[in-house]
Formats: sequence, structure tokens, C-alpha cells
Amino acid sequence: MQTQTHPLISPALGTERHLTSFHYGPSGGQKIYIQASLHADELPGMLVAWELRKRLAALEAAGKLRGEIVVVPVSNPIGLNQRLLGHLVGRFETSTASNFNRNFHDLAELVMPRIEPRLTGDEQQNLLAVRAAMREALAEEMPTTELESQRLALQRLSYDADVVLDLHCDFEAAMHLYTNPDLWPDVEPLARYLDAKASLFALNALGTPFDEIHSFCWSELRARYGERYPIPMGTISVTIELRGQADVSYAFAEKDAQAIVDYLTHRGVIDATPAPLPPLEFEATPLSGTETLPAPISGVLVFRAPVGARVEPGEPIADIVDPLTDRVVTITSSVAGVLFARQRTRFATAGMVVAWVAGAEPLRSGALLTN
Ligand SMILES: [Zn+2]
Repeated sequence: MQTQTHPLISPALGTERHLTSFHYGPSGGQKIYIQASLHADELPGMLVAWELRKRLAALEAAGKLRGEIVVVPVSNPIGLNQRLLGHLVGRFETSTASNFNRNFHDLAELVMPRIEPRLTGDEQQNLLAVRAAMREALAEEMPTTELESQRLALQRLSYDADVVLDLHCDFEAAMHLYTNPDLWPDVEPLARYLDAKASLFALNALGTPFDEIHSFCWSELRARYGERYPIPMGTISVTIELRGQADVSYAFAEKDAQAIVDYLTHRGVIDATPAPLPPLEFEATPLSGTETLPAPISGVLVFRAPVGARVEPGEPIADIVDPLTDRVVTITSSVAGVLFARQRTRFATAGMVVAWVAGAEPLRSGALLTN
């Protein structure tokens, strides 16, 4: 195991932060990149990364690693230090209101101006040529703020990984994940090992979040050059939502770290017999099929259905109680699907989204991620 330190730009006199990456196994084979808590108030992944590091250290000592596995357990030290009025504010940088998981460099945009003359009829050579172009382009970037330097440091660690796992969580949620639909055959085993209650197909719609830049750049390169040159899907990237913000426990972390180890074993990165693939209980659905349920009035939010439940059209999800008028409004799902995430606060303002149901039929288009 090798530890690397990546200094960030000092934002103010007397202050400097850095990222730490842990590198297990030999380089030259597959590369796996796993980071946690990019939204700094989403802590389940940090504990999973810690459990994972213990397993990787033991596997490395036993000579079982066939590829390089990079783990960044604390991927957002800026956000971790943003405590406001007693609350950890980890999703947005407080000085710019910028979402920590948006505005990464668009890798397709970076490589397109330079890649075409280097493409050949050999798919493996093209994979290496694209990665070399990514490395050059990222090396040329000159960040000016601490946040830009954090994003760039993460991208320089991850751009050439065969698998990128970005560990997040939701407010209150069942285990679920987001991925590029082109990757589903490679991601489905992960969904099985994790026992995902929803697998959502993202659309490259908004804001270049971390996992999307790694997979959609290959989709774009294939769309642009694929008829003339063979280009593989160079990175399998997935955002894993490790349930809800309060779901931090040793039991969950051990289970989830083992699921990742099982997936890496299944992919041949760990030299062992893979665990049998569990059944996929909940099929993948398009993110555009997810129904967002807003509160029609303000009031106390009382949930009537648990996360992870299959719900039918018309099924009550929550009530909004107005204690001044005695009005009670019931929010129901209009689709059949899985109630995979719920709001964490119990006070609803009018229009606030209180729950998300993964349905199979597309309902929405355009930008599907919220900020
Ligand atoms: Zn997140």
C-alpha cells in the first residue's frame, strides 16, 4: 500500500488542506477508483471506505490483488469544515453555493480537440490514446480556487480507472445507485451484491457530476467517432447511494464493503472465487421514470410508507398536517415503483419534494438531477 498526499490551493493565509489517497495492489492491470463523501455530510461511504481499506490491506498482504485499487475516504475536506449554526453543510461550498458534485471537467470536451489524429483501428490502442489525451489535458488545467483544485486533484486520480465508484447517500433512503445505461451489463452484478432497491439510468443531463464525466465521455466519443474507429466504454462508473445520512453503522459498512470486494472479485481484480451472484430483486429503471412528490401545502410531514417499499398508484406516501386549520393532505404515488428516498426534515414548505418513487415508464425529460 502506498499513501499519496495531494495539496489543495491555500484559500486563505495560514490555512491549507489536502486530499489523501491510498493505493493498493500492482499497477498495470485493471485500475479501480473509489471515493467517499464528496458531499461531505454523507458519511456512510467514509465508514465503508475504512472497512474496505482493512479488507484490501489483508488481500494485498496475501498477494490476492491483481490490479490497483485507489481509495479516497475523505474526498471533500473543504465541505467537512463547513459547520454553520450547528449544522454540517456538506453539499454546497458555502462561499460560492457551488454543489461539490457538479462542474467537474467534461472529459469528452477536453480530449476532442486533440484525439482524432491519434485514433486507429485498434480498440485497445484507442483506449490508451484517449487516456493519454485526458492526462495531458488535465495536466494543463490551472485551478485558481481551493474548490477547483480539489475537483482537479480527484479527476487526476480517477480519469484512467476502469471502474469508478462514488460513494454517496440520500436524506433517508434504501440502497440505490445511478449509472449510464450503456454500462448496465457491467454494473448489474454490483447492484446484485449491494442488494440495490433501485438502479437508475442517468442521462448526462446536467452539470457534469463526478460519476457521469467518467462514463458519458466514452459514450460521446463513441457517438462522434465510433463509426470510423473502435472505441470501448473506457470506464464503468457508478454513484452508489448508501441509504440515508443517518445510516452509519458497523453492520452496514461491513456488508457494503464486502459487496464491493465481491464485485471486484467477480471482475477478476481480486484473486479468489467470486461469491454467487444474488438475485436482482428490483430491476433497473430510467431516472426519467422517477416520480418526485411535492408537498401541496406547508405543514408537519408524516410518512406513511417506509423507504424500500414497493408502492402502487394511489398508495399513500405521506400526510401533510396543518395544525392551524386541521387540514390533512395525503400525498400519493401516481406510479407503481419503489419508494427509494424520502426527505429528512419533518417540516414541509409548500412545493418541497418529500419523496421519490422509481417507476419504469419515463415521465420527465430535460435536466433530471436537482442541485
Ligand atoms: Zn451526494
